[in-house]
Amino acid sequence: MIIAVDGPTASGKGTIAKALAAHFGLPHLDTGLLYRAVGLQCALNGGNPDDPADALAACDFPDAMMANPELRSEATGGLASRVSIHPEVRAALFDLQRAFATQNGGAVLDGRDIGTVIAPEAEVKLFVIASVEARAQRRYAEMLASGRKASLAAITADLEARDLRDATRSAAPLLAAEDAVVLDTSLLSRDEAIARAIALVELKAGIA
Ligand code: C5P
Repeated sequence: MIIAVDGPTASGKGTIAKALAAHFGLPHLDTGLLYRAVGLQCALNGGNPDDPADALAACDFPDAMMANPELRSEATGGLASRVSIHPEVRAALFDLQRAFATQNGGAVLDGRDIGTVIAPEAEVKLFVIASVEARAQRRYAEMLASGRKASLAAITADLEARDLRDATRSAAPLLAAEDAVVLDTSLLSRDEAIARAIALVELKAGIA
C-alpha cells in the first residue's frame, strides 16, 4: 500500500506520515528533506538558489548531508522552497522518490506532490491542511521548546511567503489530488490528528 501525505509547511503532515508508517509497519520518506538538502548544499556551494544551474548542481549533495541538523532550520526551509521551483531539480529528485514509493510492500511518503506526481496511483492520499495561525503557533512553540529564539510575526510572514511560492510555481504546485481526502488539523491535537488519519487510511484501504 502506498500512502501519500501532502500539504503545506507545518500542517502536521510530517507527524502524521511518521505515525502512519509506524502504525502500518511501512517505511517512511520525508521528501521535504531532499529539497532541504539541495537548498543547503546550494548555499554551501556559494550558489544562488534562484538560479536553475546552481540549484541543479546542488542535487549532487553527499549522503552525509541527510544527517545535517541544519536541514531542519527555518533558513534551510526557505532555501528548499526556492530550489524546488526549478523543474530540473524536481526531475533530478524524481527517481529516488519514485523508487521509494514503489518498493515491495509499500511506503508512506510526505511532501507536496506525492499524490499528484510521484505516486498518482497511491491507494491512500491525504491532503493535510491547517490555518496559517495554527501552523505559525505550532512552529513557534516548537522553536521555543528547542531553546531557539523565535518571533511569531516572522514565522507567520515566512509561512505565508512559502505557501505562496509553493502554490504558484508552475512545476508541481502544491495542489490536492482530485482523489485526496482533506484533513484539517487546525483544531486537532497531535493525537487526534493521528487517530483521524489512521481511521481515514483504514477506511480508504478497506482495512477497518
Ligand atoms: O516539507 P518541508 O517544509 O520540509 O519542505 C521544504 C520545501 O521543500 C517546501 O517549502 C517545498 O517548497 C519543497 N518541497 C517540494 N516538494 C516536496 C517536498 C518539499 O517542493 N515533495
